[in-house]
Amino acid sequence: MIRKKILVTGGAGFVGSHLCERLLNEGNEVYCLDNFFTGQKKNVLHLLDNPYFELIRHDVTSPFFIETDQIYNLACPASPVHYQYNPIKTMKTSVMGAINMLGLAKRVGARILQASTSEVYGDPLVHPQNESYWGHVNPIGDRACYDEGKRSAETLFVNYHKQNKVDIKIIRIFNTYGPNMHPNDGRVVSNFIVQALQNHDITVYGEGNQTRSFQYVDDLVEGMIRLMNSRDGFTGPVNVGNPHEFTILELAQKVIELTGSKSKIIYKPLPSDDPMQRQPDISLAKKELDWSPNVQLEEGLTKTINFFKTVI
Ligand code: NAD
Ligand code: UDP
Repeated sequence: MIRKKILVTGGAGFVGSHLCERLLNEGNEVYCLDNFFTGQKKNVLHLLDNPYFELIRHDVTSPFFIETDQIYNLACPASPVHYQYNPIKTMKTSVMGAINMLGLAKRVGARILQASTSEVYGDPLVHPQNESYWGHVNPIGDRACYDEGKRSAETLFVNYHKQNKVDIKIIRIFNTYGPNMHPNDGRVVSNFIVQALQNHDITVYGEGNQTRSFQYVDDLVEGMIRLMNSRDGFTGPVNVGNPHEFTILELAQKVIELTGSKSKIIYKPLPSDDPMQRQPDISLAKKELDWSPNVQLEEGLTKTINFFKTVI
């Protein structure tokens, strides 16, 4: 077996930690790079004894040198609370991080995958969203540092491919949840579960009639690895998400039901530019990657609830 050398930026975060574990289990050598802004050493502690795993503290806004066959570029805070904490840094992470990682890929001839997002569609006017939709993003709004940062990263990826023949893949990830989310992550699934387990009020923003489509992290990791190893010349972007769409109020009710919580639902103001609806069209992922999600909401939520019971 040939052991591939694989760099995962943002590897100590929620998604990155699952990806590192899976890549190691498949017999690869994994370099996990993180600046620990939202990620935690705890997420990869169990991997540290593996001689084929290396944890590196580094910030992707500075150049990084290593020999590697593949790069998964995940470094970037993903929760609105965290990416809005320092919006300039968020954009630098997306843009300078992409330039530095693409430069590395170009120098060593590595294949590189960019973790893009459904946020490139903004508050979408087309429903469900397919990859040919250009999106509806407010370039000066509170979410712009993340949305436009990710859109710029896509532009950089595509141009390094066209101009410098870098072997790129772009995945547009829709809302994902699962174990290893930080209890203070601030995204909706972790917030609701943490609130429910403590019998605190469940904070629904707006009237809760906005929709999202949530996928379980194992499905995402499967899709990422399939895309990374997809046929030459297929660059994406490709949507990876679970098309099962529901309202945020329905999610709150489901979490209360599954935790048996005494929590009450309370309503808080809707943040600005909060998208009203979101559902992936996954026809392209089905065709090119033979991928579709396997874990449905109740099963995924139960696993996530069990994880949070151990950490709070
Ligand atoms: P996360 O915040 O848990 O993980 C991001 C990781 O990147 C953290 O470990 C953080 O410390 C690290 N990081 C941030 N800035 C960095 C920098 N400048 N240098 C080095 N490391 C840095 O978020 P996540 O949910 O695991 O998201 C992973 C990736 O997937 C992100 O790029 C995110 O935009 C993308 N994504 C996630 C979702 C989702 O629902 N989880 C949806 C769409 C896209
Ligand atoms: N949300 C909510 N309560 C919370 C956190 C989030 O009602 O405690 C809402 C938020 O306004 C949004 C949806 O849940 O409409 C998803 O939010 P999240 O931050 O998880 O992801 P994103 O908005 O980036 O899709």
